[in-house]
Amino acid sequence: MAVRTGAQFIAGLRDGREVYYNGERVEDVTAFPQFQASVASLARLYDLQHEERYRDTLTVDCPDLGERIGRAYEFPRTQEQLRQKREAYRIWAESTCGMMGRSPDFLNVMLAALAAKRSFFAEFSAERADAMVNYYQHCARQDLFLTHALLDPQLDKGKLRHEQSDPAICLRVVDRNSDGLILHGIKRIATAAPYADEILVWPFPPTFQPGEEPHANVFAIPMNTKGLKTFCRPSFAHPGQRHDYPLSSQFDEMDATVVFDHVLVPWDRVFLHEDITLLNRMYRETRMRELTAHQTNTRLEVKLGFVYAVLVKMAEAAGIAARADIMEVLGEAVACLEVIRSTTRSAEEQATRDPDNGLMYPDLFALQAGRALGPVFYPKLVGMLRKLGGGGLIQMPVSLSEFDTSISEDLERSLRGSGINGQDKAQLFKLAWDLCGTEFGARHELYEMNYAGERGALLAGIQREYGRKQYYLDHLQQFMGRL
Ligand SMILES: Cc1cc2nc3c(=O)[nH]c(=O)nc-3n(C[C@H](O)[C@H](O)[C@H](O)COP(=O)(O)OP(=O)(O)OC[C@H]3O[C@@H](n4cnc5c(N)ncnc54)[C@H](O)[C@@H]3O)c2cc1C
Repeated sequence: MAVRTGAQFIAGLRDGREVYYNGERVEDVTAFPQFQASVASLARLYDLQHEERYRDTLTVDCPDLGERIGRAYEFPRTQEQLRQKREAYRIWAESTCGMMGRSPDFLNVMLAALAAKRSFFAEFSAERADAMVNYYQHCARQDLFLTHALLDPQLDKGKLRHEQSDPAICLRVVDRNSDGLILHGIKRIATAAPYADEILVWPFPPTFQPGEEPHANVFAIPMNTKGLKTFCRPSFAHPGQRHDYPLSSQFDEMDATVVFDHVLVPWDRVFLHEDITLLNRMYRETRMRELTAHQTNTRLEVKLGFVYAVLVKMAEAAGIAARADIMEVLGEAVACLEVIRSTTRSAEEQATRDPDNGLMYPDLFALQAGRALGPVFYPKLVGMLRKLGGGGLIQMPVSLSEFDTSISEDLERSLRGSGINGQDKAQLFKLAWDLCGTEFGARHELYEMNYAGERGALLAGIQREYGRKQYYLDHLQQFMGRL
């Protein structure tokens, strides 16, 4: 089965998985009111793969596998293939206004990156390297949707994993047998875990020290694996309130904690285990950063573009779009948007071939610039929504259906703007509020600030690894020499 439809994706989720919401087991995640709209939004992504206008961008014939696969799974061997991947990411991101950070393409391309670096896993053993490649092929063939959980619980940062007051908290190997490894403990934050097909686990940040070997594992299992439990945060979904919560009612990706209760991970799903040296090298050396940041920066471009358009409409609704100070605000939003937009194109332009596997990798530093600036730009644009909306953002009726009641005339008069009637302006401001005022909006700011890891560590890594540093230092030295 390659290239699934939305209906096939949904059917696959009725598998007896153990998901808990507010302490109670969810019997069918596809019918659960708090998940239904997000599942439908994800199903729509799968359906888009079959639409004539998108088919050749979103999917591609894969000679290696002998069948058609989702574009994110493709190994990029040319700059044109990188461009096609970006187009595919854009189409899916536009379907969710950039609001689903963990749409299937994110982990699918991560998996492609890991499998493409078979040589890295082969340093551990040929068996584990084969397992990695076979797993990638299985997911690509079945067109699966993965979640991932990298972090340990936020415990005592002054202690290593095995030194915590309860050493059973952080996920670790507790036993092994001829079938596989037995893992026990907790991981977070697995976005979309309640309705993903599989979970990929690898530990982050890559700072393992001697003694932490039992925690250093990379593996993947189906979400209905025995002993795997998913605990949800409060939903921000507002089921059925499409007009009043235009984004949260459709795109609230559930974030979850995953608990492994003596879970058997079969050997063919173990890609590395109990190896702190390889784990500390994995994030960098598998080059997953290049391929995933190409997707995440494309998604962020779509999201910033969406917020920018809302800002323009708000300025117009207030009759202030041509004022110099407002033009300055909007111009700054454009500058942020264009910087992020440029990162992917610049990365493709400067892409280089990796002699190890022949793949074409987009430029790391062009992409990392986007990852470093996204956490600054997104909150900045959200702040602009608050600035332009002012008190109008909390002057909204409880529901737009109030325009169908006896108070509609007064409502209309109290809300109309410049060239826009009261109801349309209320709809626009409800959308803005969902971006900048609701719990969904707050979660998105937190997401953009954190999804690529702690920003300080990211920036320090950029400086540490910066490949063009010497070029600029040499130029400075030449200049100084001529003084
Ligand atoms: C909405 C959302 C969705 C996410 N989805 C996923 C997902 O799908 N999969 C996944 O694996 N992860 C996910 N994450 C997790 C994300 O990668 C982390 O939030 C991020 O890496 C930061 O780690 P943390 O939350 O543990 O924060 P921390 O590392 O605890 O940082 C919190 C604060 O503590 C400070 N701090 C941390 N360590 C130190 C130290 N040693 N000394 C001094 N100060 C310190 C930091 O600077 C920061 O200010 C998600 C996060 C969010 C918010």
